[in-house]
Amino acid sequence: MEYRISRIIQESPRVRRFFLETVNFDFIPGQFVVLTHPDLPQGDNQRSYSIASINANQSELELCIVLNEKGLITPWLFQRNVGDHLHISEAQGAFNLKNDENAGPIVFIATGTGVAPFRSMIDASLEFTHSEVHLVFGNRFQQDILYREHWEALQNEHERFHFHPVLSREKATNCAFGYVHEIYESILRDHSDARIYVCGWQDMCKEARERLKLLGFNRKQYAFEQYD
Ligand SMILES: Cc1cc2nc3c(=O)[nH]c(=O)nc-3n(C[C@H](O)[C@H](O)[C@H](O)COP(=O)(O)OP(=O)(O)OC[C@H]3O[C@@H](n4cnc5c(N)ncnc54)[C@H](O)[C@@H]3O)c2cc1C
Repeated sequence: MEYRISRIIQESPRVRRFFLETVNFDFIPGQFVVLTHPDLPQGDNQRSYSIASINANQSELELCIVLNEKGLITPWLFQRNVGDHLHISEAQGAFNLKNDENAGPIVFIATGTGVAPFRSMIDASLEFTHSEVHLVFGNRFQQDILYREHWEALQNEHERFHFHPVLSREKATNCAFGYVHEIYESILRDHSDARIYVCGWQDMCKEARERLKLLGFNRKQYAFEQYD
């Protein structure tokens, strides 16, 4: 269906938040939509985007997209303006919270726009579980930390929510220096009952998968959403 762009926010130097006017757009936390470019040939014309909205059935649906200057679709997307229309599918995908009796911590691991589906998943985790909830979020620089105010406000609001920003190219107060891997490993070491959700680009996901296996976690305990 076609949806009108109602707002665009430049969230960081290379990332924009696109808001689409919707009525009762339903989704399960963690799902994505497929965007179709109107002019490109079939096979080249579709890309998936995680839903970055916190709640379903609002008047706007949010997508959080990083520009790939050499890519086919994002340069076109970054030339769209408020009032233009985008064609997107219904919500789809099975990267969702597992409902189980387990009371272990829930650990979300993301880099860059991989944090998008965690907006709704973390909100749902805090609402529907009693578990400790961790977000380990890796970026290069402070300016790249998407939704930073939101995560910090959530941490102030909920004792159970722990925000762990990690920077690989800059040292900064309240942020760890390095990569996400060391941070989640230190959380998980004492929690063999944890549930783990990982979202981002290929390299990070590949390494996380290997490290989680080495730590002794099995496939029922973790889920991945890989962005390529
Ligand atoms: C389920 C799913 C959900 C996704 N959700 C999001 C989302 O919420 N936000 C978002 O920005 N993207 C998301 N993506 C990625 C998105 O679908 C596109 O791949 C991306 O926007 C690039 O499209 P493009 O046409 O500009 O580049 P393409 O022409 O497709 O890109 C060319 C190549 O560059 C690689 N690439 C592109 N961007 C990057 C990057 N930043 N880092 C490393 N490699 C890269 C691609 O893998 C590809 O090999 C998601 C992908 C999947 C599968």
